[in-house]
Amino acid sequence: DKKVIVIGAGLAGSEAAWQVANAGVPVKLVEMRPFKSTPAHHTGEFGELVCSNSFGALNPDRAAGLLQKELRIFKSLIIQTADKFAVPAGGALAVDRSKFSMALTEALSSHPLIEIERFEQLDLPRKEKITILATGPLTSDELSYKIQAFTGIDACHFFDAASPIIYGDSIDQEIVFKASRYDKGDPAYLNCPMDKNNYIHFRNQLIEGEQANLKDFEKESANFFEACLPIEEIARRGVDTMRFGPLKSIGLWNPKWGDLFDRENRLKKRPYAIVQLRKEDLEGKLLNMVGFQTNLKWSEQKRIFRMIPGLEKAEFVRFGVMHRNTFLESPNLLLPTLQFMKRNNLFAAGQITGTEGYAAAAAGGLLAGINASLLAKGKKTVSFPKESMIGSLINFISNKNQILSNQKKNKFQPMPASFGLVPELTKRIKDKRLRYKAYQERSTEALNDFKNKLDYCFEKDHLLSK
Ligand code: FAD
Repeated sequence: DKKVIVIGAGLAGSEAAWQVANAGVPVKLVEMRPFKSTPAHHTGEFGELVCSNSFGALNPDRAAGLLQKELRIFKSLIIQTADKFAVPAGGALAVDRSKFSMALTEALSSHPLIEIERFEQLDLPRKEKITILATGPLTSDELSYKIQAFTGIDACHFFDAASPIIYGDSIDQEIVFKASRYDKGDPAYLNCPMDKNNYIHFRNQLIEGEQANLKDFEKESANFFEACLPIEEIARRGVDTMRFGPLKSIGLWNPKWGDLFDRENRLKKRPYAIVQLRKEDLEGKLLNMVGFQTNLKWSEQKRIFRMIPGLEKAEFVRFGVMHRNTFLESPNLLLPTLQFMKRNNLFAAGQITGTEGYAAAAAGGLLAGINASLLAKGKKTVSFPKESMIGSLINFISNKNQILSNQKKNKFQPMPASFGLVPELTKRIKDKRLRYKAYQERSTEALNDFKNKLDYCFEKDHLLSK
């Protein structure tokens, strides 16, 4: 039986089912709503947008826009439906959410090769079934525990306490310096030194900063975070608590400040506090603000974190969050084809793989759908070119080597699409706009070529080499 089972008709599952069915392979799409809902969904429609109605910037010179453009090349159901029900939103692709999800439900329900079943999947289907797991950040409890048992206890996380990530080229290199505490090992960290005035002012702003509204189900989970407090809570606990915690300056020295072993010089020059930045990727194009998990509103994070010396012009790839989120330790579990390493006919797609955002979920669904249908046809599965936004994101979440050794103990954290993930151009372009445009052109070229090969592979009995 070559029918593919897709679990979850969110953004990833809807896209996956569409791709499989359009490749001529029958699909069973399982969705638990409306009989059982998640704490964030309100309807029984497919691809319900649980919060914002925006897919991000439209312009392909931006990461979100490029992701959308790439999805259009592959006739993504999600993006084509979003385009059809777009509402004016400045430079962003925003949709009429109700028309959008009703149209998705209609398209999938009327497809002759898609059978829809509404029930809560309580376990992974039998191991001979080709299956795509796309149950999202709010996967139901029973299934979550089964996934945890299948992957290993530490390989499935239920809460996301992530610090902001910023673009490495947006920090002030004159102020920030490279060093590891007590000079141990490779200087893996970048350090932002603060004097007393900076620190006191920064702490006051943190304490007074406006908090994001937590959903009721997220308030319940807030007490899970005692071991991983929000930075504003650490600040609230005492004037010096941050200084003796994540912002401690001891053991960090910039050679520019003169002789470390001259006690007088050291006492005079040593910063009052230091914010550390850790490389998120091997090249350091993305930097993680160490210990800055937070519940502050995104606009407040931008305003307050830019007060840190060296980060005045920081550009944020993602903001800090602390929320309920079921996601896999993907680099240790998945291949860049989205197949599980330990079961090659089981795929994962969407937010559960640790990608972030609506269009990114659709991209995962697209790849898992293409590969599940290739597998059903007895062909080799494929991965997207790394030059594309889809390829770079999926490669990031599924690449063991990408996770740096110092990050391993902090566990993998979800990642949105960004230009920080794509490989450098052979010729460096300094101007950011022109550089992003060049990334875009390179991606389109690589993807058109890949698509031609893929179409040929589907038509003929030809194996596309990986
Ligand atoms: P989902 O869209 O959540 O789809 C998963 C589907 O699986 C759901 O329909 C669910 O009912 C179903 N399901 C779960 N368990 C089972 C089961 N056992 N059996 C059968 N069906 C099951 N992203 C953004 O880009 N912008 C935002 O503003 C935004 N806001 C968010 C707010 C909240 C509160 C949360 C939790 C997430 C938010 N996200 C946001 C992330 C967002 O969830 C993803 O971007 C996107 O919805 C992920 O798509 P998905 O297909 O992976 O999961």
